[in-house]
Amino acid sequence: MPEVTVISEDVAALARGREILRAAVFRPDVTNVEPEEFSRRLVGRTLRGTGRRGKVIVLDFGEVVGLVHLVISGRVLRLPEWREPDRMNTAVLEFEGEGEPLVLAFTRLWLGYFDLYEPGEEDKHPLISRLGPDPFSGDFTVEYLASAFDGKTSVKGLLLDQSVVAGLGNIYVDEVLFAAGVHPTRKAHTLGREEIQKIHAATCDILRRAIGLRGTTFDSYHDAFGETGKFQHQLKVFTRAGEPCPQCATEIIKSRVAGRGTHACPSCQHVS
Ligand SMILES: [Zn+2]
Repeated sequence: MPEVTVISEDVAALARGREILRAAVFRPDVTNVEPEEFSRRLVGRTLRGTGRRGKVIVLDFGEVVGLVHLVISGRVLRLPEWREPDRMNTAVLEFEGEGEPLVLAFTRLWLGYFDLYEPGEEDKHPLISRLGPDPFSGDFTVEYLASAFDGKTSVKGLLLDQSVVAGLGNIYVDEVLFAAGVHPTRKAHTLGREEIQKIHAATCDILRRAIGLRGTTFDSYHDAFGETGKFQHQLKVFTRAGEPCPQCATEIIKSRVAGRGTHACPSCQHVS
């Protein structure tokens, strides 16, 4: 989610207040409207602002709202000039402006989408309607987490569940649980109050720091401003299987929890 926040803010910084001159999608299945309608509904609209709901980027064009879900290495790139969409640059928008053209490409959307909704209707989107509280909202409290951590599901599975907490991804869940000293396989109902407080504090702290460092990127991707994320250098356990734990030097173990590759220190992170 830090990556989504960064992309959403980048798009706003570049394109807010600008009108769309051209808009196109590569294939009908990356959006919920016909390709011609995608273009017709966006051209002439001005980007008023951007936001994020869970992992979905919200683009506010006034009379129409764009919902963009970038999955697995989907990006927003700034192209030097207009280019018809292709398999890589799946949706392309050109904005008016003085001087250089501003062309943004939303990449690899065959795994995600760029849907158009009427204003106010976006709450009905399947990925938004079931979202739990955002970690940066006032609803995300220790009390809330304590009430959600009920039952025998693993704590990792619950934190990945977007209906429990909105926007947390695999990397950050592993880092949060390491910071909190809780093993990912722990059944949620076994967690003590102090552990839940640590998970809550670590979630806020790690997400904030990751956004400050423009997220985590494992490839050579440069964002719309030509920068890369820097949080990968701060990761304590994720992708560090076989390396010594930064706290106790025990070997970090990779396993599978809740269907996802999971990294943990068997010594620092309590299994019960
Ligand atoms: Zn350790």
